[in-house]
Amino acid sequence: MCLFLIGFKKRVFSIMQVLSSEFLISNTDVAKCPNNFLPDYAFIGRSNVGKSSLINALCNKKSLAKTSSRPGKTQLINHFLINKSWHLVDLPGYGYTRTSKTKKKVFQKFIISYFKKRNQLVSAFVLIDIRHKPQLIDLDFMYWLAEKKIPFSIIFTKSDKLKPVNVKTHIENYFKTMSDQWSLLPNHFVTSTLKKNGLEEVLDYIGNLNITLK
Ligand code: GDP
Repeated sequence: MCLFLIGFKKRVFSIMQVLSSEFLISNTDVAKCPNNFLPDYAFIGRSNVGKSSLINALCNKKSLAKTSSRPGKTQLINHFLINKSWHLVDLPGYGYTRTSKTKKKVFQKFIISYFKKRNQLVSAFVLIDIRHKPQLIDLDFMYWLAEKKIPFSIIFTKSDKLKPVNVKTHIENYFKTMSDQWSLLPNHFVTSTLKKNGLEEVLDYIGNLNITLK
């Protein structure tokens, strides 16, 4: 009986519902980010990982992230105000620049500066396409976050592209690789914007963190 009630409660009441979401500002200067005390939750990952789709799905809007990512705006720090109480921050995708001879990592300086200086950043979400094997650039980035003591979770995206049994294996393999270097593994979520899976979990996680800040 007791177990039933706990399960019932969990499904009916979610901690966080996005009731309002609006674009605030885009820039490359952390000093020009919204000057208030609201908490930031930053979303970052390699391009094409599904970041815009996830942001739109979390906010239940078709083109919130796209609105701010008109050509030229993709390389900016984009702040959205959610429920008038926290910021969803859409950061530019990182990746490599390729020439015929070199493959160079690209982490823009202003991103580094954002993570180092934005005191109200509560947590980052590093997006990883669940189908891909661990990539050095993601692992390096997460290592850097940990070194700087910046809390983060992994969001494995596009889970609908794999069979459920393979989702589990891919995550296990990912963490197996990580555990070579990490003694404590990060918190993680599994999402599909196509099937709307995992969205509530991400929002509830943010909602819970917001409660602890009060
Ligand atoms: P971004 O570059 O990281 O912002 O990635 P987008 O959100 O633009 O997504 C890149 C591509 O992946 C698009 O073709 C999306 O439709 C697709 N995509 C994103 N999320 C999902 C998902 O959960 N499932 C599937 N099947 N495709 C997705």
